[in-house]
Amino acid sequence: MAKKALVIGSGFGGISLALRLQSLGFDSMILERLDGPGGRAYVHKAQGFTFDMGPTVLTVPHFIEELFSLERNQPKLNEPDFPEAILGEEKRIRSGISGGPNTSRYVDIKPILPFYRIYFDDGTFFDYDGDPISTREQIKKLAPEDLEGYERFHNAAKAIFERGFLELGYTYFGDIPSMLKVVPDLLKLDAVKPLFSFIKKYFKSDKMRQVFSFEPLLVGGNPLRVPAIYAMIHFVEKTWGIHFAMGGTGHLVNALLKKYQELGGQIRYQADVRKINVIRDAGKKRATGISLATGEQIDADLVVSNADYTTTYLKLIEPEYRRWNRDSLVKLRKQSMSLFVLYFGFKADNLKLELKHHNIILGPRYEELLTDIFDRKILAKDFSQYLHIPTLTDPSLAPVGHHAAYTLIPVPHNGSGLEWSRIGTGFASTILEFLETRGFIPELSKRIVYQKFITPDYFETELASYLGNGFGVEPILRQSAFFRPHNRSEDISNLYLVGQGTQPGGGTPSVMMSAKMTARVIAEDFKLE
Ligand SMILES: Cc1cc2nc3c(=O)[nH]c(=O)nc-3n(C[C@H](O)[C@H](O)[C@H](O)COP(=O)(O)OP(=O)(O)OC[C@H]3O[C@@H](n4cnc5c(N)ncnc54)[C@H](O)[C@@H]3O)c2cc1C
Repeated sequence: MAKKALVIGSGFGGISLALRLQSLGFDSMILERLDGPGGRAYVHKAQGFTFDMGPTVLTVPHFIEELFSLERNQPKLNEPDFPEAILGEEKRIRSGISGGPNTSRYVDIKPILPFYRIYFDDGTFFDYDGDPISTREQIKKLAPEDLEGYERFHNAAKAIFERGFLELGYTYFGDIPSMLKVVPDLLKLDAVKPLFSFIKKYFKSDKMRQVFSFEPLLVGGNPLRVPAIYAMIHFVEKTWGIHFAMGGTGHLVNALLKKYQELGGQIRYQADVRKINVIRDAGKKRATGISLATGEQIDADLVVSNADYTTTYLKLIEPEYRRWNRDSLVKLRKQSMSLFVLYFGFKADNLKLELKHHNIILGPRYEELLTDIFDRKILAKDFSQYLHIPTLTDPSLAPVGHHAAYTLIPVPHNGSGLEWSRIGTGFASTILEFLETRGFIPELSKRIVYQKFITPDYFETELASYLGNGFGVEPILRQSAFFRPHNRSEDISNLYLVGQGTQPGGGTPSVMMSAKMTARVIAEDFKLE
């Protein structure tokens, strides 16, 4: 008889892992506390608008293709992670093709060009599309003194991408020797120094320093201290492009769930797990199932938590079973920043937008603003934002004649003491006013027909994330690789973790990698082929 597995949480990490468990021959069930799937990728629908609440920038489409190609008892854990065939994808992206054959049976994925339009505070902008020729032209226009530096940066980032992502991307650092093996190479590549210091070696202008360092913010990293290994994001995007799931990211979540259910998996909503049940068995601690808020208990051969790492240990497992993850050590971990996200719908009649699908609108300060968010934990008067207008690609996400948009602003996590219930509405008005008065969306106040925002409180209460973190524990050197929370619990056998708080880190491609890593250690522990 098939062994039973429970997955707590239906984020991208939870669904990807559950799919892999089905392919490994387990009978699995996802337990999700919300009334719908996706976690951070939950969908909000109102007045004919469809808003993806979280991830919108899809990278590495072959990770998605691999999930759609899984079959029962065909786990694909030993095949090459990056087959030769997918390393020449650039041409396909530029001709508007993305998504593999298995993906396209479930969801239509399209490449987006440019990847981002990056606006500076003086009104100039940089269209980043990963193409070296157009990138050079953009640099020439804004900061010709950085042309030579770009060539050097390109080569350094490529070397980090090849070693750090293609060769080591899927390495699970479960012990210190596995990590020591790679340290000399990472030191040689300068990949452990803070990203912003690394970038400063290559670029002189503030604008280019910002363009080539902002990306880790999309996965919870502070460019001033995230290790330079994150320079590989530049190359990941360049190599495999940026993509959008037609119908929205939520459509991709539903498509993955459909695949999961076709493989026999089950999902239950409004299933709030309150406890991971553990017993002592022959001197060892072993997970035996979970207890729901209703009191119902469900037994299983293994349990995987896709819930926030810190919440998993502090709230779901009794302290007597935790030594490596005892309260004092878990609380020592630095949490990533949080987000204020404003979802809005507006009339599009006689409106010519200069904006693109993905826009980064940088404020007047960069390093100081990052320090306000991550260290001083204050809400500054100025802000930088990521503005997403998916209806420029897929008009079906809004009623006819309207656009759906969201704008995301990094803010401190709830260790700040900011009272969002008091200041949230005012902050939303400031942002909308900014978008109108700076000319990004003319007459926005007259055009707007719908708005809703979320604050760090949403992350803390709805998504059960410690201190309302946006992206789990912060990706800093001392919380990377072996030092990042482990996907196989050190404290309790048959208990595993998956998702952004674990190895390798945050962002949808990383949590899909995390699912494969966790599936590999489960296959090893359960002695599966
Ligand atoms: C606004 C926003 C924009 C982003 N944009 C991008 C982007 O463009 N590109 C990108 O790659 N990444 C992006 N990210 C990051 C990316 O979304 C996340 O890293 C990723 O989706 C996290 O997935 P996960 O599986 O780790 O967990 P989550 O999505 O956090 O899922 C965890 C799930 O566990 C459930 N849960 C928690 N506790 C319990 C419990 N006790 N019982 C039952 N269920 C429980 C939660 O309800 C939730 O559904 C963005 C994140 C945010 C917030």
